[in-house]
Amino acid sequence: MTHAEAYAELVARSGELAVLQSCASVLGWDQQTYMPRGGAAFRGDQLALIAKLSHAEATHPRFGELLGELGGTFAEGTVEAANVRELKHGYDRATKLPSRLVEELARVTAAAHEAWVDARKGDSFATFRPHLETILALKREEAAAVRTAEHAHLYDALLDEYEPGASTADLTVLFAGLTAAVVPLVKAIGESSTRPDDTILTRDYPVERQKWFAESAAVAIGFDFNNGRLDIAAHPFCSTFGPGDCRLTTRYNPNFFNEAFFGVLHEAGHGLYEQNLPAEHFGTPCGGYCSLGVHESQSRFWENQVGRSRPFWQGFLPRMKQAFPGTLDDVSLDAFELAVNAVKPSLIRVEADEATYNLHIAVRFELELALITGDLQAAELPAAWNEKYRDYLGLTPPTDADGCLQDVHWSFGGIGYFPTYTLGNLLAAQLQRAMPDSEATIRSGDFSGLKSWLTANIHTHGRRYRAQELCTRATGGALSPVPFVEYLSAKFDRLYGLKI
Ligand code: ZN
Repeated sequence: MTHAEAYAELVARSGELAVLQSCASVLGWDQQTYMPRGGAAFRGDQLALIAKLSHAEATHPRFGELLGELGGTFAEGTVEAANVRELKHGYDRATKLPSRLVEELARVTAAAHEAWVDARKGDSFATFRPHLETILALKREEAAAVRTAEHAHLYDALLDEYEPGASTADLTVLFAGLTAAVVPLVKAIGESSTRPDDTILTRDYPVERQKWFAESAAVAIGFDFNNGRLDIAAHPFCSTFGPGDCRLTTRYNPNFFNEAFFGVLHEAGHGLYEQNLPAEHFGTPCGGYCSLGVHESQSRFWENQVGRSRPFWQGFLPRMKQAFPGTLDDVSLDAFELAVNAVKPSLIRVEADEATYNLHIAVRFELELALITGDLQAAELPAAWNEKYRDYLGLTPPTDADGCLQDVHWSFGGIGYFPTYTLGNLLAAQLQRAMPDSEATIRSGDFSGLKSWLTANIHTHGRRYRAQELCTRATGGALSPVPFVEYLSAKFDRLYGLKI
């Protein structure tokens, strides 16, 4: 068998696996949008069968043979070399995990998820604690099993699932730089006499008009509704089935404008990435997204750098006044801009503003790292959580439901996931800095220049480069907290008059 034949077989196998997984995406999307309650049990059977078939395909010995044959064949930097590298990375990870551990994690996290729902509802950490302890033990075992020479820290092996190449050492430096600048900034904003009037955003916003207005913004930034849809889901997400079919979801609150509008910009940002991946590489790593952090940089860029900017609302506020007649007649651009940029330390991550958001992530990063190393015991989590909220946000959660029980991630074993949110936020600011004239482009209302810059520098590469290299290629330097911190400072100094 020639190398060309071996590579063709590898690509065909990878493509079949991608099709199988896209079937699971269709079922998962339906489950969260249209499926009646009664369908849940059978949907579970369908998804479990696909997961089993996918796992068998992903760990098939033939995959290993082909990867072994092709190792070192292609020149560094080519699409072929990147596909072999990434498929080998996934194969090694999948085959290093004992099937006993995979099954146990599936069983334990299913029970933990139910326990977490009850624990949060009843504000009872004791209900969740034994599950968390078991998950931590299994995740330590998983990390030890998949750890490679590149993973200096045990936690690196868990980060690897969501953000390949990220390290505890790098993240520690990023978070330290970030919190050192953001904590005093948030404090200064709190002491400012400028007070946003956020009641502007809780007036009557009929759902039908919100849908129309949010869709028109998604179209304006370049989301293609011939190759996508927007539906309603309780927990909004973006899911791609394959080339030509990208699904966005959102939820509407008739008395709160931000939820659907910024939610749609966010998900459409994810969608733009998916819609502009190179379709000719679909089914191989080079046709897929780079990492969760890079994905989040795309959603946050459109939601925040664009959607919460003054130049954006110079064009969109007059349109919004037309979309919601009479609702905003008394509202100036200054007042509106300040309202959508209100900064207020809060207890709940998903409701956090742009300035405080990463402080919520810093808390989670530090705690889950300590939980994995054993420096922190699960029983000590609520107290440690509350202490960090006091340090970073100046608040003490009155309950664990509003504290360490608020997020779903740990219940599904998603340890190493949280930092990707911050990586995305930092990268979004760094990308904006690297783009030519982004502010003038946003003001023009024609966003195609921004989209094509992102496509050329991020989307089109798929997973050809790891996130760290992609960042350097796109922005000229390694990921740093500096562009984000300077972006925040400039924006909030101006809005809150901090320098006066
Ligand atoms: Zn996102």
